[in-house]
Amino acid sequence: MSLVGVLLSVLQANDDRSHERASYALKTLVAVRSVDSVQLRVAAGEPVDEVSAWFEATVVELESRLTMADGGAPNPGLEIEADTYVHAVRDMLAAISVDDIELADEINETRVGPAFEQVIQLATTVSEDAEASAQAGEETLRVLTWASLLSLAGGLAIMTTLALRSRDRQREELDRWESGRRIRSLVEGSRDVITLVAGQDAISVLSPTLGSLERFSSAPAGAFMSDLLPPEAFRLWRTADAELQSDGGHHEIEVILKATDGATGYFEGHGSLLVSDPTQRVWVWRDVTTRKELELELSHQAFHDSLTGAANRSLLHDRVEHALRLSDRSNKPVTVLICDLDDFKTINDSLGHSCGDELLKTVTRRICDSVRASDTVSRLGGDEFAVLLEDADTNTAVVLAERIIELVSHEVDLDDRKIFPSVSIGVATALAGTTTEELLRNADMAMYEAKRSGKGRSEVYQDQMHEVTSGVLQLGADLKTALAEQQFSLYFQPTVNLTDGTVEGFEALIRWDHPTKGRIPPDQFIHIAEATGMIIGIGRWVLQEACRAAVELQGQRSSPLYMSVNLSPHQLRDPATIDTVRQALEESGLQPEQLILEITEGSLLDNTTAVERLHELSDMGIPIAIDDFGTGYTSINYLQSLPVSILKIDRSFVSGDALEPDERQAFLNAIVSLAKSLNLKTMAEGIEEPRQLDELKKFGCDTGQGYFWSPATPQSEALTAVDRIEAQIVSTNHASLRPTPTIDG
Ligand code: C2E
Ligand code: MG
Ligand code: MG
Repeated sequence: MSLVGVLLSVLQANDDRSHERASYALKTLVAVRSVDSVQLRVAAGEPVDEVSAWFEATVVELESRLTMADGGAPNPGLEIEADTYVHAVRDMLAAISVDDIELADEINETRVGPAFEQVIQLATTVSEDAEASAQAGEETLRVLTWASLLSLAGGLAIMTTLALRSRDRQREELDRWESGRRIRSLVEGSRDVITLVAGQDAISVLSPTLGSLERFSSAPAGAFMSDLLPPEAFRLWRTADAELQSDGGHHEIEVILKATDGATGYFEGHGSLLVSDPTQRVWVWRDVTTRKELELELSHQAFHDSLTGAANRSLLHDRVEHALRLSDRSNKPVTVLICDLDDFKTINDSLGHSCGDELLKTVTRRICDSVRASDTVSRLGGDEFAVLLEDADTNTAVVLAERIIELVSHEVDLDDRKIFPSVSIGVATALAGTTTEELLRNADMAMYEAKRSGKGRSEVYQDQMHEVTSGVLQLGADLKTALAEQQFSLYFQPTVNLTDGTVEGFEALIRWDHPTKGRIPPDQFIHIAEATGMIIGIGRWVLQEACRAAVELQGQRSSPLYMSVNLSPHQLRDPATIDTVRQALEESGLQPEQLILEITEGSLLDNTTAVERLHELSDMGIPIAIDDFGTGYTSINYLQSLPVSILKIDRSFVSGDALEPDERQAFLNAIVSLAKSLNLKTMAEGIEEPRQLDELKKFGCDTGQGYFWSPATPQSEALTAVDRIEAQIVSTNHASLRPTPTIDG
């Protein structure tokens, strides 16, 4: 029973008691109310010293009231207990006054509480006794008054403690509310999504703005993580969340989310335990899509070819390395194909780089379409590709190579031209212990062999190919000393006027007499000289030597002779070439119009430097011839814009190797008549048979060269050849031109 309840029951039970006593009891009740209001003020934050002062005043006032109302003998037990209680309350208030709530709590629990119980107990006993005795009435009232006082004091103290606590709590609450408000505005302003997770995956708090997560989440306001995250992301999260719950550490995951429109979003989730309640987990989700896409883009760029999107050399290297390691254990064969486009340079140079790029992209697609998705297609650079086949033996790879060759060879439309690309493929399968470098090198050698033996085909690596390649390397090394050691010489092949059968001039053709390997034809070393840059020095020597020989040969003849010199694309790009040519002319005394410079189609088109240089050479008065015409993709119209005066029709169109007879004739006819309409002279290469000559004459071709008349000969025999050719005309009286063919030097 509460103390006030005891008091009221006593009053009700003794309604015959004096008005004075009753009014005292009422006053006590009023006091309780006033204390109550004071307590409320304390709870509202009134300083504790004011509360203490009030307590002391109340004790004094109520004691005096008690004395006034008293009259009976004091109860010593109750007095002592009351005293103990009052002291305890004082100490407690003192502790509160220095903000030592902990000590106040302790005093309340160990001293105030027990003393209060004691007082209540005594008071109740006394009030019960009072009901039985009329004299006890006074005593009861006294006890009740004390009890009421003490209870009020005790209650006050407790209330004060609570009030102060509550004041602290209020402050905390206020602080919390303030920081909460700040946090809330931070959370609302932030693009991160904050989820507080309780139990398995129940979301107890979800930040109000879901930001970009909304785009990817089917249930933004969902009460469970499984609503927020799609199944796979959810599984990942659950594992991390379980670890977080067991180790309490910080956990980080990255999830990939897909929007309904197909967009991909990358989110980073950071999880930690809630400090105030470690059963709950805070997961903060951040949209890292932009950063991630940039990272992916950068790593893609680092490992892929920007033009074709195929893997680059470094990625291929890694994959081959990895495949070889795996095959050590699995014994699955690892095979590499090296695919190199045939005559790509010609296409690139004649149709322009953008057409070349288009072709490379088309070829990449076709190679990718020929292989399995698990195979790695890589562009090694230029027109060279590699395909890594994991788990494919040589036989399978050869079938695949044939499929690539077939698919690549389909027509490609480039800039309104139809191109039929061709690719040469080398196949190499790793043996036990083969390294990445060896495997790629072997496939490369096989590819070169495929090129050498006719292009547009595949070759499987054989050990002896290694020797061929080393032979090529050796040749490159030997070339370095060839010029200084005078191992080169020029041979001269006459060019004949088809109308009257007279010799118009010669083409200078280089020969290399290797000290140990014997004579090496230009087809076998010019490309090495070009690749190593040695062609510049060799070309200079050829120009000087050819001009000098031309003047010497002319000196022995009455009619002028032209001298044709082959100019490599490298020379045409070299700024020093103009001076080299000028010097060669000056030193020899040859007239510029008697020197013909032969360039290939591919060397000048879409190359402004080369075209400019060509104009400079032409401005010097030198006629320019396009060599091997018909093998590139140059249009005659384009040639018209260049300072070109002669078209040398490639041997393959004369011999008929390249086309069906009908097509070939149509081609020759078209070239010759077009050239005529553009005021260009035509010269046919490689005439070997009278039939070919007759045909060319019929179409109106101007000049020709070939074994039919003479192979290239040393300078010492050149004029003899001329005499023989021209003598044939005289002896046959133009009826038939059948000199005895000889073997080319
Ligand atoms: P090219 O300029 O087209 O020279 C014609 C080639 O055809 C020469 O081969 C010549 O010997 C050969 N030929 C001539 N008539 C006939 C024939 O009736 N039948 C056959 N089957 N062949 C014939 P060669 O001398 O082996 O030269 C090959 C190529 O090497 C030349 O082709 C030219 O592109 C290049 N070359 C030769 N000398 C030089 C040079 O001094 N500098 C540069 N840059 N290239 C050169
Ligand atoms: Mg030539
Ligand atoms: Mg030629």
